[in-house]
Amino acid sequence: MDLKLNCKSSTPSIAPFSKKKTISGNLDDGLADGKIDVTESSSPSRKKIRTNHLKDHAQEEALPKYKLWMFKYPSALTSFEQMTDHAKGKKIALFLDYDGTLSPIVNHPDSAFMSSEMRTAVKSVAEYFPTAIISGRSRDKVFELVGLTELYYAGSHGMDMMGPVRGSKFLFKDYQNCIRSTGIQRKESQMFQPATEFLPTINKVFRSLVESMGRIKGAIVENNKFTVSVHYRQVEKKAWLDVSQIVHDTLKDYPNLKLTHGRKVLEIRPILDWNKGKAVEFLLQSLDLGNSEDVLPIFVGDDRTDEDAFKVLREKTRGYGIVVSSVPKDSSAFYSLRDPSEVLVFLRYLVNWGGSDSIHSK
Ligand SMILES: [Mg+2]
Repeated sequence: MDLKLNCKSSTPSIAPFSKKKTISGNLDDGLADGKIDVTESSSPSRKKIRTNHLKDHAQEEALPKYKLWMFKYPSALTSFEQMTDHAKGKKIALFLDYDGTLSPIVNHPDSAFMSSEMRTAVKSVAEYFPTAIISGRSRDKVFELVGLTELYYAGSHGMDMMGPVRGSKFLFKDYQNCIRSTGIQRKESQMFQPATEFLPTINKVFRSLVESMGRIKGAIVENNKFTVSVHYRQVEKKAWLDVSQIVHDTLKDYPNLKLTHGRKVLEIRPILDWNKGKAVEFLLQSLDLGNSEDVLPIFVGDDRTDEDAFKVLREKTRGYGIVVSSVPKDSSAFYSLRDPSEVLVFLRYLVNWGGSDSIHSK
């Protein structure tokens, strides 16, 4: 039985602000004790993002540190043969983050477009291996940006999943909050949404933050359906504490929500035992790929939230996390790639390998 696609309220809402005067960042004791960590950690500066290819002085100084870091997290490109040696006789399942992994980090989240070369590579790799995009964005937004019907999509950090119906299989049928649907995005798809009960709360928090962030110039509030993001990349540094304080104050009224911190973004999400790591496990089971002996999951991502997936793969010694970073940072990943351009090369390596005679993966 087909049901109507359950996404009418999921159109991502972006609210840019504001022309009003910015409030200066008085240090608040409650913030200074680190309750909300509005720092630059894990967020390379805009200059670094824009000028990755430039050999400026700071980068020359950082280069030895990066090379040292790569001893711990070797390049997935130079380690590719080692990786595929381990993958022989196994099925690869590929999980990809979107922002900062397939697309560059940009000032406005609506402008995070992936290149046509990247889209072609993702489409090609999905012909050989089951491929899912797992993002903090709303599922509809990620689908709009990627536009490939061959993939599985998990929005809101895995709280909103959709995949193609393969043959007569209805993969999520044993799970609560799961429906089979038809809609504008696919002829037929299946969905799993473990946080449906939080929808009214999330919408309320979104409206509240849109209103209260109105006085912070450059702040962007994004409704990801099951989470809300407050982007402060374009906010003056002196106002970061104000952003943090507003979010902190808002959350006081919602004990069933929690705060996480990404790359120049604060994310409000339900207190639910669910994250990108759980989403990976769920998708593997749904795809009948839960047997660790036969399957090699690979997760490529750049953000703190991707660490949940890296941990799952590392702790269960099943597959590889690949952290995308141009600066050294602690990670539970096994390998590294410097930026989306290296992700593109890695995907092309996978396509070539998937098409070679050495494997029979599908
Ligand atoms: Mg990312």
